[in-house]
Amino acid sequence: MASDKPKITIDIDLALIGADRALFCQDCGARFLFSAGEQEFFRLKGLVNVPKRCGNCRLVAKRRRNGDSIDNIAESNCTKCGVVTKLPFVPRGDRPIYCFECLRIIKFEACQEGVEA
Ligand SMILES: [Zn+2]
Ligand SMILES: [Zn+2]
Repeated sequence: MASDKPKITIDIDLALIGADRALFCQDCGARFLFSAGEQEFFRLKGLVNVPKRCGNCRLVAKRRRNGDSIDNIAESNCTKCGVVTKLPFVPRGDRPIYCFECLRIIKFEACQEGVEA
């Protein structure tokens, strides 16, 4: 018997979050999630285009648009996954720093716990 079963590659994060979609940032090429909640928000707003930038690049683009300086955007490694993430504040080192993706997963887990409680 040849075991030529198709390899099933499930992205754990995506499986966890369900209807979220994985997109790639046009600026830095990073993968980011377009969450089910955001998709609903876009739909309600009548927006047909999906976001083109990851959380990091969106933060920078927003600052540029507002004419704000991007010099005071701090960078830190995510406590959970270690990825470099941009922060709209200077970390004081007294609490964990999470990247946009981990923050999303943490929020999702928190609301799942809320359902069970
Ligand atoms: Zn990006
Ligand atoms: Zn992370």
